[in-house]
Formats: sequence, C-alpha cells, structure tokens
Amino acid sequence: MLGGRVAALGLMLGLGLTAGGAGLVAAFGGGTWGGRVAGAAVSLVLLPEVLGLPFAARGRVVRRRFGLVTQGWGGWWADVLRGLLISLPLTFGALFAVYALAGVTGHWWVWAALGAAALTVLMSWAAPMIFEPLFNRFTPMEPGPLRDALLALAARDGVTVEDVLVADASRRTTALNAYVSGFGRTRRIVVYDTLLTTAQPREVELVVAHELGHVVHRDVPRGTALGAVGAAVGVCVLAAVVTWRPLL
Ligand SMILES: [Zn+2]
Repeated sequence: MLGGRVAALGLMLGLGLTAGGAGLVAAFGGGTWGGRVAGAAVSLVLLPEVLGLPFAARGRVVRRRFGLVTQGWGGWWADVLRGLLISLPLTFGALFAVYALAGVTGHWWVWAALGAAALTVLMSWAAPMIFEPLFNRFTPMEPGPLRDALLALAARDGVTVEDVLVADASRRTTALNAYVSGFGRTRRIVVYDTLLTTAQPREVELVVAHELGHVVHRDVPRGTALGAVGAAVGVCVLAAVVTWRPLL
C-alpha cells in the first residue's frame, strides 16, 4: 500500500516538475483544449493506478496466504476496472471545471477550493447510496431478535439509523466486520455476511456497538470536515505552486 503511494507520488512529482507531464498530456489529447483535459485526466488516473497494481497484487497475495481472500483474480481485476470507471469521469469532470474556471477568472482557485470542499461533503453523504452498491450487494437484515437488538443499541446511543443491512462481503473475503456509513437520512448499520455466519449474536452486537461509538464520537462528520478542509487547502497550495515563478 505505502510502496504504491510513494511510487505514484514520485511519478506525479516527476511529471509535474519536468516537461514530461506537458508532453504526455499533449501526446494524449492532441491540439484541442478538451482533448488536453481528457489527456490530463487519463494520465492522472491511469498512470498511478498501473504503477500501484504490482503493490496491490502483492497485498492480495499476502492476504490470500492468511486465508482472507475468497475472490479469484478475475474478480480482483473487475474491482480494479470498476474503480477506474468511477475515478476517470470524476477526475475528468473536476479537471474540466478547474480549467474552465481558470479561463474565466483569475480567482479560479477560490472557487475551485470551495468546490473541492463541497464535493468532499457531497461524496461522503452519497457514497453509501452511489458507490458502495457498485462493489457489494446490500440486503435488509431479516426481522428478528438480532435486528431488534442492533436497532435498540443505536436507539440507546441516540443514533438514528435508516436500516440494518447485510453486505455480501463473503464474495471477496473471510474477514469479519461491520460499519455505520452515511449521515442524516442515509445513515445505516452494515454488517458483513461473514460476521453473521461466524459470530454469535452477542458478538455481532459487540462489533456494531464499537461502530456506533464512531457515530457517537462524530468520527464521520469530523473526518468529512477534515477532508473538505484538506481538499480546499490542497487546491490553494496547488494554485500557489503553479503560479510560483522560480518553479516555472
Ligand atoms: Zn473502529
């Protein structure tokens, strides 16, 4: 994981600080403005992904050695492609918006920073509805004592949850987990099917109680706010870097 990140960061710095990046984008996109934006998006998404693949595959091999993997390499590749189908249009849209803004106003970075922050909040809110279903199937937990116990746990903590769902995690892993995702109207408790088949009901309650603790401590809004501020600051730093004369 860390190796993949470092390699991707090195690649980005290399492309960004030399003429290599501009050359690559031009080669991809040709002469048109839209083409260059598309070229930049493809380079920004595909190159780090390809570079990180050996590291990710190595991680899978290690997890497999510990009996945590239930999915074949075909499914693994399908997940990689699914991830790309999400990140490519998002990156293209974001880049397109930033370039269009920069063409209209010199204060593009203010709007881009605000947009990045707003997008971070929107993604955190929408992720349970839009992105999670692309990777797993979620079914409402059957009515019964366990579902009642989990809802009672949430109620005791003063946490409103929309539903208790079971994720088909067993298609990828034998690992046991649960989580609470979304906020406001999209908040729900999600329990891995692996947990339900392996653990006793009281043990499932224990895991969910831990996850509800994250909600009570406001970890999701806090993480989202931190991410939003980070995204905005990142845009400002980027704006400062790309206009810094000595670097140019
Ligand atoms: Zn935790």
